[in-house]
Amino acid sequence: MTADIDAALTGRFKERYEVLKVSLNEVCSECGRDPSSVTVIGVSKVFPVEYAKAAFAAGIKDLGENRVQELVPKTESFLEAGLDANWHLIGTLQKNKVKYIIGKTHLIHSVDSVELASEIAKRSICNNVTSDILLQVNVSGEESKHGFTVDGVKEAVDGLSSLEGIRIRGLMTMAPIQSVDGEAEGVFEKTKILYDDINPGSWDTLSMGMSGDWRYAVMCGATHIRIGTALFGDRAAYSAKA
Ligand SMILES: *Cc1c(COP(=O)(O)O)cnc(C)c1O
Repeated sequence: MTADIDAALTGRFKERYEVLKVSLNEVCSECGRDPSSVTVIGVSKVFPVEYAKAAFAAGIKDLGENRVQELVPKTESFLEAGLDANWHLIGTLQKNKVKYIIGKTHLIHSVDSVELASEIAKRSICNNVTSDILLQVNVSGEESKHGFTVDGVKEAVDGLSSLEGIRIRGLMTMAPIQSVDGEAEGVFEKTKILYDDINPGSWDTLSMGMSGDWRYAVMCGATHIRIGTALFGDRAAYSAKA
């Protein structure tokens, strides 16, 4: 069912994805990693579902959204078209919106409190599913940022790992948006150390790195990079035009 997917748009995604993969291969060979150990998540937020479908047709099988209101209709549109993407929720999730996304996500990256994790667990059990989640950490201690503190996440892992309905797969972090030199690197390094320190052995996912800073995230061990602008283009320019 790819007949109604815009071929020109798909071509553009193929080109951008190719460029990204060439860079990813370079970075991986520099740091001795297998490129297949890094999953590229195409962040389709703000762009219409046609763009997400074209990205999917170009080979980007993992797609990310940061808002429930955008994620849900896009997943439904994909289902109707018979397109089987892995959907990632990467943005802040409010407890009262959990019910709308259960069973619709491949991975929820942005779990930032024990209460939220418990709500996801409860709703998942009701729906007979197990939800894969990441705990979002704020290692930079920035006030404006969501996420567990370093001490908080250790405690949360102890408390949550026995909970049915959820499976913690690892950690997610964000570097400061306007980071000064070396700041993002510091955040990624600290997060990797924390990840290795508290990984109970069952974890396999470290989500960090965006269009501007993914290279260093990969060098620090990211398994999932969340790429919006470098694949979809400038969101602000798109919304201004739309
Ligand atoms: C928007 C967003 C991204 C992608 O950002 P780009 O800089 O456009 O690649 C990654 N992660 C999260 C949590 C986001 O909200």
